[in-house]
Amino acid sequence: MTKFSVLILGSASASPTLNRNPTSQLVNINEQYYLIDCGEGTQSRLRAHKIKFQRLHHIFISHLHGDHYLGLIGLLQTMHLLGRTIDLHLYGPPQLKEIIDIHLKYSQSSLRYPLIFHPTQTNSSETIFENEQIEVSTLILNHRIPCTGFLFKEKNKPRKINPKAIAQHCVPKYAINGLKKGEDYIVFDTQKVIKNEELTLKPAKSRSYAFCSDTKYSQSIVPIITNVDLLYHEATFMQNEEKRAKETYHSTASQAAQVALEAKAKLLIIGHFSNRYLKLDGLLAEAKTIFENTELALENSIFEIEETQ
Ligand SMILES: [Zn+2]
Ligand SMILES: [Zn+2]
Repeated sequence: MTKFSVLILGSASASPTLNRNPTSQLVNINEQYYLIDCGEGTQSRLRAHKIKFQRLHHIFISHLHGDHYLGLIGLLQTMHLLGRTIDLHLYGPPQLKEIIDIHLKYSQSSLRYPLIFHPTQTNSSETIFENEQIEVSTLILNHRIPCTGFLFKEKNKPRKINPKAIAQHCVPKYAINGLKKGEDYIVFDTQKVIKNEELTLKPAKSRSYAFCSDTKYSQSIVPIITNVDLLYHEATFMQNEEKRAKETYHSTASQAAQVALEAKAKLLIIGHFSNRYLKLDGLLAEAKTIFENTELALENSIFEIEETQ
């Protein structure tokens, strides 16, 4: 079974507190790491989890509020000091490149490794990364400055070979790839067609994770995240601060839960907690009244998405 998990490295909003760092998460899909946002303190959290920086190849930044990227330059610099030479792909708002360039210019340094920058835009959702297994697309959010979320989605998986049936029908090796793709097997000598379903088993379902960074309550993301397995949605405030949430382009716990409900998510995790909340039970209870299957995206917690048929 391949892994699909999300490790929470930071759950605070605007500024760090004693126990909570600003936003950062590490997605692990089949032992490939993807870092989402990089608030202050991300490096030490990664170290605490014994995540080797050289295993990071893709970093996704949602927007340019400091609580989502102020740890990035430090991380890029550490990678340089560790002697990295392999490519690093960075996805984020276009101006992020300027910020990094200006830092490098005034520190009179240049990175030893290629930093490949992929600008994101907020006109419409787009696929920004894909490999054989997954696809990452942006989610257009409604924040004070341009901001995207990220949807990680496994591609459709190949059908599983049924070894017993393969042996029984003496299927040759050359036909296996076609069977995985769903093709029927045609016996060479007799031209007899053996249906794919007789020789293969249903593949596991494709899993998905939606990271909804800073945003006002917005239904416009619902269609693109419908039936998502795991949904992270910011919940900076409780509902009695709805006015404040609206003014600051943030969401309440109730609103996050409402999005999860409308999107028919399987599990909702909430984070980006205002530092006015020392205890978070109120936020959780509030979300649960609307969407029962909610958990707090607490620092250092890991959310696994199990494979199902
Ligand atoms: Zn924020
Ligand atoms: Zn923000």
